[in-house]
Amino acid sequence: MPTPWRLLIGCAAAGLVAALAWRGKALDRPGAGAAVVVGGLTYGVSGWAGALPLLAFFLTSTLLGRLPGRPRHGPRDARQVMANGGAAALAAIWWAAAHTPTALAALAGALAAANADTWATEWGTRLGGRPRRLLIGAVVPTGASGGMSTVGTLSGAAGAAVVATVAALASPLGPGGMPAVFVGGVAGLLADSLLGATLQARFRCPRCGALLEEPMHQACGGVRIASVGGLRWLDNDGVNAAATIAGAAVGALLLAAHP
Ligand SMILES: [Zn+2]
Repeated sequence: MPTPWRLLIGCAAAGLVAALAWRGKALDRPGAGAAVVVGGLTYGVSGWAGALPLLAFFLTSTLLGRLPGRPRHGPRDARQVMANGGAAALAAIWWAAAHTPTALAALAGALAAANADTWATEWGTRLGGRPRRLLIGAVVPTGASGGMSTVGTLSGAAGAAVVATVAALASPLGPGGMPAVFVGGVAGLLADSLLGATLQARFRCPRCGALLEEPMHQACGGVRIASVGGLRWLDNDGVNAAATIAGAAVGALLLAAHP
């Protein structure tokens, strides 16, 4: 099918999925728009080879967020959608232009990293007990960036394995490409935790003293506060984007080294 038609069909199908996610409060309105761009573009230029791994990430991570056992997070916004899906969409364009399996490994590696991070958070915060800084350091609050638990880490690896399996079955990568994608996803998860524990911006509310990941505390009036550590501009979305790029790079390099 010519790409313009596939782009249209991709945007229509992504629009349907995004509208359902918006109605279910998994995405806000700009987030749904960003999902149409990422999903429509990925299907339009790479077909099912890219769209099925993307769906595996989006559907499993959205459904996991619906399970009971932890406070449900608010709808994802456009920045969060781009941070998780932008690298994969760029890799889809690479695949369309070059048709090298390395590009598919990058695409799937990025999504495996995004899924690993989401699965690690969803299962780790429910069943993981008290996370430690990078698994072996000091105990940190549940859900804090850089915190890892054994359950969360193993769940993250399972999330990477799901995307790697779908990519291997659905794309020209084939079963031989699965290890590269899986290791890419786990590498992305580790990069996420490492950056979250070191370079991600940290803030302390001057009124209540709470340690925060955003430069304002809504509960205390939402005034802007100065950072107390990390790089001020590197927020959670930036760390997620970096983790998906790491997943893409490791997936692509491993496949290129062992085609
Ligand atoms: Zn406060």
